[in-house]
Amino acid sequence: MVDSETLTTPETRLLPVVVLKSGRDKSVRAHHPRLFSGAIKQIQGKPKDGNVVDVCANTGEWLARGIINQQAQIAVRLLTWDQQKAIDDTLWQQRVQEAAQRRQCDPLLSRTDARRLIFGESDGLPGVIADEYAGHIVLQLSTLAAANARTSVVDALIRHVAPRSIVERNDEERMRHERIKESAGVLYGDPPDGTVTIGEDGLHFLVDVAKGQKTGFYLDQRENRARLARYCAGATVLNVFSYTGAFGVYAAAHGATRVVNVDSSVEALRVAEANTALLGQTGCEMQYVSADAFTELRARRAAGEQFDVVILDPPKFAHSPEQIERAARAYKDLNRIGMALVRPGGLLATFSCSGVVDAALFQKIIFSAAIEARRDVQVIERLTQASDHPVLVSFPEAEYLKGLICRVL
Ligand code: SAH
Repeated sequence: MVDSETLTTPETRLLPVVVLKSGRDKSVRAHHPRLFSGAIKQIQGKPKDGNVVDVCANTGEWLARGIINQQAQIAVRLLTWDQQKAIDDTLWQQRVQEAAQRRQCDPLLSRTDARRLIFGESDGLPGVIADEYAGHIVLQLSTLAAANARTSVVDALIRHVAPRSIVERNDEERMRHERIKESAGVLYGDPPDGTVTIGEDGLHFLVDVAKGQKTGFYLDQRENRARLARYCAGATVLNVFSYTGAFGVYAAAHGATRVVNVDSSVEALRVAEANTALLGQTGCEMQYVSADAFTELRARRAAGEQFDVVILDPPKFAHSPEQIERAARAYKDLNRIGMALVRPGGLLATFSCSGVVDAALFQKIIFSAAIEARRDVQVIERLTQASDHPVLVSFPEAEYLKGLICRVL
């Protein structure tokens, strides 16, 4: 038998140690990648923020290794549960390579040149998001650990993905949580001046990688767009929270006769119009309405309008557990009005991207909305985020998008 002590490298043996409170080691043992400051009893060895630390149980037993940030509520980002493994450039680069390779082999991604290459903790890279749009990568580094590993991540992306450019675009709110300074900009190559055209399932979309929402496009809805499109032949469609019209373009390509796109963002609707133009002649009447969705839906309900298919894909209503109740009310109101706009026997495709609202709660909310709308509702498909946004079972928080395709009787 090999004595694990003899395998430990001298540098890892000297690491500062985070000792957990008694009884607070369960989630670390279960490979949950986030260690909250409240679980820590003591920190030995005076680590600086951004340093590698070992995490031990109250008994002194070695459990995991990660990167500390005492400015953040998530005090340690855990990267390995293997005592022999150092957290160094090689580890970051290897993880980037593996994540990219998984996408390259994913059959569900064979018909697109836009995909999420790295999805944070789910790929063993806490704080790293990398989305690729026709060879251009948009990178987000939202933890101190990730920001410090910038060079390794970029080098590995260049080596294993061979992109045309890499641009860093950070989410300010997340950076505030980690108290890291913003560092956005061109990291490699020649980024697009304006929009990039991506191909998805034979369709084309313009993506503004510099100014668009998220990193430019809602990649997480890719498979759901295709699934919903199958119901759209000959249908009238109300696409609410349309952003750049992706659901509407799919619907038109699959034979919808009329699509009304509603979004509060005029810029997004302008791109939606351009995306429709990329489709060429379809015979589908496309409309673009820039308005508050709630107001617009109420007005259409009052006018007695109905559609064969209503899509509701709102922004995140709940950002934290404290906001669940208020968000649930907003989802219920939205869906109640949405249901009234579905013709009897038509479809409601309804989504929530609030991670803290789980699938069971979301279905309950839809149930409440159905009661208030006085409609019977059948769930015919349950939807989730696309395969390039995988969920590690040890980190179920990564599952945030849920959707239901319902028949509204
Ligand atoms: N369905 C889209 C993504 C929607 S993201 C897709 O598949 O690409 C949510 C959208 O809601 C954003 O485009 C945002 O501009 C819009 N939005 C946010 N609040 C709104 C409101 N009150 N009324 C209408 N649109 C709103």
